[in-house]
Amino acid sequence: MLSNEQSERTELHELFEIRIESIGGLGANLAGKMLAEAGVLGLGLNGSNYSSYGSEKKGSPVTTFIRFAPPDMLIRDSSPIEQPNVVSVFHEALFRTQNCTRGLRADGVLIVNTRKTPAEIRKLTGYQAGTVVCVDALGISIEEKTRINTAMLGTLCRIVDFLDTEVIKSGIRATFEKKYPALVESNLRTFDRGFTEIKVDVASSEVAAAQEPYRRPAPSLGFVTQPMGGVILNPGNSVLKDLSSSRQGFVPEFKAESCIHCAACDQVCPDFCFVWSPQTDSHGRTFQFLQGIDYQYCKGCLKCVEACPTDALAGLRETEGYADAHQTKHAFNLA
Ligand code: SF4
Ligand code: SF4
Repeated sequence: MLSNEQSERTELHELFEIRIESIGGLGANLAGKMLAEAGVLGLGLNGSNYSSYGSEKKGSPVTTFIRFAPPDMLIRDSSPIEQPNVVSVFHEALFRTQNCTRGLRADGVLIVNTRKTPAEIRKLTGYQAGTVVCVDALGISIEEKTRINTAMLGTLCRIVDFLDTEVIKSGIRATFEKKYPALVESNLRTFDRGFTEIKVDVASSEVAAAQEPYRRPAPSLGFVTQPMGGVILNPGNSVLKDLSSSRQGFVPEFKAESCIHCAACDQVCPDFCFVWSPQTDSHGRTFQFLQGIDYQYCKGCLKCVEACPTDALAGLRETEGYADAHQTKHAFNLA
């Protein structure tokens, strides 16, 4: 497996483990199910799959685990996958908040939904061994009006030689034609583009050999190192938390010159992102005027864009640095 070229399908002879790092709403759980079903029912492999959620809300981190084994090998392990053959990262912002490449093997594959190059991803993650595959799954899904999961499945299918493209595509067809028949063809196109539109970098075997062996990380706090008195050092406090990894690729753009300060956006925003301050209007009356958006809390749902009666808000595909450059901070009085 794992070269720049498409290769022949091979037989699976040993346990093969895939970990998907994603956030709620991008379809990682469904992708894991479709993949496992295709492997078990379509290819006759042994397989298992489950997902691990946090608060089960859109935007929260989700990890999906898929194991495959040859038909004569039972899978008895149902624990989280620590040393995967493949890690598929559905949302690049996750690199900010968690170590997505933990345990990835020296001959493994890191797939990332990104517009970056493999060299940029290596620099960002520190993963120098194995293979890095970049695919602009979000761009593909926007153009095809689908979700990124089928594009990411296409890329997975391209790099894992024992998977059969036609079997996975039959699984996609079967999944969508029951509930959303109108989405079958667009999802199959999304899969094909995920299969084709990839950028690959394969490290040399010397680099792979130099990778440190895996060590299971010790808990950061133990009975010796925990703070006295049960002090919570990292509170779940919305003032301090960086929630940017929960955004799904979009941000609202605010055009102050078109704003009539009606607050329709604020009524629908689930995360209180809109920043207001009192100002005097042309008649000398004091009102709250919208100043901008605090992107620290924005999850990119774009409900505000739908609610805005003027064109003061528009949905943008998020580019690196946009939120920081256009941030309007809430002024919290924490005294
Ligand atoms: S996209 Fe709009 S409504 Fe959604 S969280 Fe961000 S500011 Fe709030
Ligand atoms: S809904 Fe639109 S016009 Fe109304 S306050 Fe929000 S941005 Fe301004």
